[in-house]
Amino acid sequence: MPAPPILAITFDLDDTLWAIDPVIERAEQRMHAWLAEHYPRLPERYSPADLRELRDGLLQQRPELAHDLGALRRESLALAAQHCGYGRDAAEGAFAVMWQARNEVELFADVLPVLTELAAQLTLGGLTNGNADIARIGLGGLLRFCVSAHSVGVAKPHPAIFEAASAAAGVPVEQVLHVGDDPQRDVIGARAAGMRTVWVNRDALAWPGGPRADAEVADLHGLRELLLRWHIVPGA
Ligand SMILES: [Mg+2]
Repeated sequence: MPAPPILAITFDLDDTLWAIDPVIERAEQRMHAWLAEHYPRLPERYSPADLRELRDGLLQQRPELAHDLGALRRESLALAAQHCGYGRDAAEGAFAVMWQARNEVELFADVLPVLTELAAQLTLGGLTNGNADIARIGLGGLLRFCVSAHSVGVAKPHPAIFEAASAAAGVPVEQVLHVGDDPQRDVIGARAAGMRTVWVNRDALAWPGGPRADAEVADLHGLRELLLRWHIVPGA
């Protein structure tokens, strides 16, 4: 029996549509500069690396924060603020600066042209463990929904987050294609939930092992060619 046609595509965000490391690095620098101006004892005592360590330590104590990276950041900043004799306002202000900078991303060059074309033919959505805001990033018109670990309460590769994305798309999991860069969270997770999968391998890495994606592409132009070949979108 042939597989039912793909009607929706869900996209991982970080490292699939933009590179996340430079964004986080800049966001942390900007937050640090803001703290130096408003709550100087905090950045004097905690470098960005120290804050990361504090965050990792807090995650060990409170594993329930794993699906809510924003809350983990806020709580660890509150802890640092408290250690420096500041109140919760320091943490909330710092987080707001961080969050704004976190949404200043530089889309990979293939993203806008391909999403614009595909959005006219299929239902597209975001599916992320992070806390990017697609409206702020300017993808709100192309991605019709964004399901996050924070909104669902579990993170990829848990099947429930893929089921939530399928519900948001209004399409059964068998008719959703999930596209992402992370072998475990995106490919193996989506596959186990019953979706078809494409691995976006921008850095030409070797497959680390485990059940493979239905296809591998180097970027979204490759995805578009694949969808043409699979007759999921019509040729020009
Ligand atoms: Mg990713």
